[in-house]
Amino acid sequence: MTDSDDFRFETRSIHSGQEPDEKTGALMTPIYANSTYVQDGPGDHRGYEYSRTGNPTRTDLEDNLASLEGGEYGRAFSSGMGAINTVLNLLSSGDHVIASEDVYGGTHRIFTQVYADYDVEFSFVDMTDPDEVADAVRENTELLWVETPTNPLLNVVDIAAMADIAADADALCAVDNTFATPYLQRPLELGADIVSHSLTKYLGGHSDVVGGALITDDAELDEQIGFYQNSVGATPGPHDCFLVLRGTKTLGVRMDRHCDNARDIAHWLDDHDAVDTVYYPGLESHPNHELAAEQMNDFGGMVSFELDASLEEAADVVSETEVFTLAESLGGVESLIEQPATMTHAAIPKEERLAAGLTDGLIRASIGIEHVDDLKADLQQAFDAALK
Ligand SMILES: *Cc1c(COP(=O)(O)O)cnc(C)c1O
Repeated sequence: MTDSDDFRFETRSIHSGQEPDEKTGALMTPIYANSTYVQDGPGDHRGYEYSRTGNPTRTDLEDNLASLEGGEYGRAFSSGMGAINTVLNLLSSGDHVIASEDVYGGTHRIFTQVYADYDVEFSFVDMTDPDEVADAVRENTELLWVETPTNPLLNVVDIAAMADIAADADALCAVDNTFATPYLQRPLELGADIVSHSLTKYLGGHSDVVGGALITDDAELDEQIGFYQNSVGATPGPHDCFLVLRGTKTLGVRMDRHCDNARDIAHWLDDHDAVDTVYYPGLESHPNHELAAEQMNDFGGMVSFELDASLEEAADVVSETEVFTLAESLGGVESLIEQPATMTHAAIPKEERLAAGLTDGLIRASIGIEHVDDLKADLQQAFDAALK
């Protein structure tokens, strides 16, 4: 029988890690709601002992995710932060980490408010400039933490260049691939050591589950990750694993529609009088457009744009939408809209926020898979209602 890992992405997303159940022939991976497993003699088990250590529903998800990233080993976690925490567990006090200055807020928080207390040092740099990253390398640099495209300005970082810098420094290169998904970008193929995911976003895809994952090609690294996964215990339950498995089956078709809708809306906004700047890597005017075209299969479903508007007017726009839901998070089938200055990025002091380009009139949209004409009409009626 052909190894399902030899198939193309869309086929693997449906079949990898998911053989019909041996006992019953059930097509879908069962939800093994189960904490413990019989042993045929002391220490003589059938592959599972205790569900924190391993659970069959989770195994199918982990194998599925590994296959999608083109990696050998997958590990699932109870949240994206649980996955990120596990990468940081690989470090020791005195180690140094380089990350991009516009890293995900929760990642910035765990770096600066949790691990800094354990004497791990962090440098935040502009990762779109490889020279700046190379200059930040120190003797004790053990990890480069890469996120691309970034949130909310959708800058694109050269993953292969980051992997080279990490290799030269004898450090690990970890890439948070949440925004792009493996359908659009596969960091392991570009030289990264670890891929990290918030499964909560596109991989789950239906705004109904929180989860995380780490994927790697290196057996030794996977063993370390597995040790911390089991020791720290931020593991997902079987119901959550089932929901993500259900989500990954349609990842390809969903991402195609997310990308088509986002491209259409980005161009429409780019031509719109009410809009100053559109941040979308698929626009030729985007500063990293060429790199994005090379590194990604398409440009993703996130679009940010700056209105010629005050904080209050922009807040009114995101409050007036009817098809777009005013909410944080992203990657679900439904379109979401938010104002970074008052929501996802409100914790950043104002001066720092403005210096980073996160203006009062900035709006971030997670473009869903509704009909694109309804989405454009909704934005237009919100502009009409809020911008006088
Ligand atoms: C949401 C998110 C996370 C955190 O994941 P949770 O599932 O919310 O814990 C990490 N990185 C990125 C880029 C995210 O969007």
